[in-house]
Amino acid sequence: EKSKLEKFRHLPAATADGVRFELVANIGSVHDSELAAEGGAEGVGLFRTEFMYMNASRMPSEEQQFEVYRDIAAKWGERPVIIRTLDIGGDKALPYLALPEEENPFLGYRAIRIGLNQPDVLKTQLRAILRASAYGTLKIMFPMISSMEEWRQAKSYVQEAALELEAEGVKVDRSLQVGIMAEIPSVIQMADLFAKEVDFFSIGTNDLVQYTLAVDRMNEKVAYLYDYFHPAVLRAIHTLIQAAHAEGKWVGMCGGMAGDPLAAPLLVGLGLDEWSMETAALNRVKSVIAKLNREECEQLARQLLNEATAQDIRSKVELFVSGK
Ligand code: PEP
Ligand code: MG
Repeated sequence: EKSKLEKFRHLPAATADGVRFELVANIGSVHDSELAAEGGAEGVGLFRTEFMYMNASRMPSEEQQFEVYRDIAAKWGERPVIIRTLDIGGDKALPYLALPEEENPFLGYRAIRIGLNQPDVLKTQLRAILRASAYGTLKIMFPMISSMEEWRQAKSYVQEAALELEAEGVKVDRSLQVGIMAEIPSVIQMADLFAKEVDFFSIGTNDLVQYTLAVDRMNEKVAYLYDYFHPAVLRAIHTLIQAAHAEGKWVGMCGGMAGDPLAAPLLVGLGLDEWSMETAALNRVKSVIAKLNREECEQLARQLLNEATAQDIRSKVELFVSGK
């Protein structure tokens, strides 16, 4: 089984009828980046930079961050690396950053909310990324965007940092794309408006499911309700992809759903452009995509968008895949 999958390692992801998809990796460190390159990823769809902060005993300096981003950018060359700005709070803490005790930390002071509240932290990270952008193909992604104001404010810091660096004589990649995580339902509801302003979206199903279904992603007691095959989640993905494509923008997915082979027919059918997952999942997802035909998947997706329960969706996808 393992050796059968192994042959997919150096193959690009393509359906039986020759439609190509970009399969990239989630990483949290330079070490993960090495493993992802060996494992056949075509780039990095999510660099969770919070682990770099969590493993440090004080706030990483611009220089320290720059060196990490530069090495990773250079390693991947023309292949894209999406760096997500610090996503701390929720279940993740920093020993040197005092965060308030909160009753609902996942609805509280988290991710971009911290970045916008403490712009020195965000700006330091953006300067490091922009400096590294000259060494490869970097993209910037903001986590937990819930409103247009947050997006515009965050984006303005990118512009500000780029201008500062250029004034200092530092080379910056001005074609660098800036996008957002789609992981809060308000972004889905306003997808048409966001699509006009962002360069791309990446769907974070881990949080999108949590916030769409009001199910704590860490709580075992309600884990049975946590399901990315829920019709509301499927419809959210569909809405977002349609709105993005209408504006010529691309959509990725970096939540756990992207690495689930059973989700592959649906995601092909819904038109997802980029799939980012743990390196270990790449071969298996490629092996499923290789059996698929795009038109059949589109037909399947259209049908399943009318189903009323996660159970029905799941069993129909299972049936579809078992016929392959
Ligand atoms: C997500 O929410 O799906 C995601 C990829 O981000 P994280 O798991 O880091 O919150
Ligand atoms: Mg998330």
